[in-house]
Amino acid sequence: MAEPVRSTDAGLRAGAAELKFRDPAKARELAGAMESVCEAVGREVSVMHVCGSHEQSIAKYGLRTILPRRLDVIMGPGCPVCVTDVPEVDEAVVLAADGVRVATYGDMVRVPGTVKSLADAQAEGARVDVVYSAAQAVEIARGTAEEVVFFASGFETTAVATAAVIVADPPPNFSVLSAHKYIPPVMEIVAEMPATRVEGFLAAGHAATITGSALFEPFVERHGIPVVVAGFEPLDVLAGLLKLVELVRDQEPLVVNMYPRCVTPEGNRNAQEQLWRVFRTMGGRWRGIAHVPNGNLRLRDEFAHVDTRKRFQIAVERLWSHAPSALTQVCICGDIMAGIASPNDCDLFGKECTPDAPVGACMVSNEGTCKIWHQYGGHPDL
Ligand code: SF4
Repeated sequence: MAEPVRSTDAGLRAGAAELKFRDPAKARELAGAMESVCEAVGREVSVMHVCGSHEQSIAKYGLRTILPRRLDVIMGPGCPVCVTDVPEVDEAVVLAADGVRVATYGDMVRVPGTVKSLADAQAEGARVDVVYSAAQAVEIARGTAEEVVFFASGFETTAVATAAVIVADPPPNFSVLSAHKYIPPVMEIVAEMPATRVEGFLAAGHAATITGSALFEPFVERHGIPVVVAGFEPLDVLAGLLKLVELVRDQEPLVVNMYPRCVTPEGNRNAQEQLWRVFRTMGGRWRGIAHVPNGNLRLRDEFAHVDTRKRFQIAVERLWSHAPSALTQVCICGDIMAGIASPNDCDLFGKECTPDAPVGACMVSNEGTCKIWHQYGGHPDL
């Protein structure tokens, strides 16, 4: 196998700049080139994206209809709402049930905990506010004397925004219940799974805007698996996939930045500084997947005064004597996010489990694979 090299974005800028991002002729050209590469490989090639926005683009624009039959693009654990673990939801539910005002992103409200979601708690009288940003949660706190807890979810991209409000001197009645996750460690987990078929990763362009593409170089060196950073327009995704299958064909474990109009090798240093000033990584469970070492982002001790877990005794145990519903127990979200199953493998998909009546977290979020497939269709039956 060739030696890994540094991020190779030089020379790609000009090509990417010329793309018209939804041009059907260019899309077919890229798909044709992928077909040739897969033919040259002579077997099925499996790659994984780790971003719900990539799955959105693939499903919404019907890209699987033009992908080579021998290319399997697997959805990975790229939906932050879906991987928020049950006890984390339970913490927010208990706080809300105890009269604390909870502000969170819309998708988080309906994610099921052990026995109920925040929406259920709200229906029972709890005060739950849907916000579009961490800053909006701070504004709510400024306008009231009540304690306001921001139940914060999202990957490192969103965590940067949470960090920004924490360092900006929020009011004393504001605190953060962090369910933020950090993507790179879960890629390690997927790469090390004995049953993994993943031969390359398509990394999320927005996260790499913060972290930089060079972040993936140690991963590539450790695992000998290529990583291509891609944007979210249809041609971004197709161009990223083409580069990925070329790297698989050539057995070249490289990091390639195919989103140079936004991503640099070093990323946004100021945002990184802010992120790591406020957060530290710690191990924790990702719903349905596994314990992910260093996969959770938690507030540093310096920010204990803004840390909900330090300010409140959250007695989640009282929920745990309730057995989860029988339907919840057959949800296979974890297998879907680990790339070893698809929504079509779930008996509840589109029947007992729909966006209006979600059983699992993957049917709640707009970045959840089950919801995306329900909305746009998944694998075409060609
Ligand atoms: Fe879980 Fe519903 Fe998806 Fe089945 S369809 S895996 S129950 S979220």
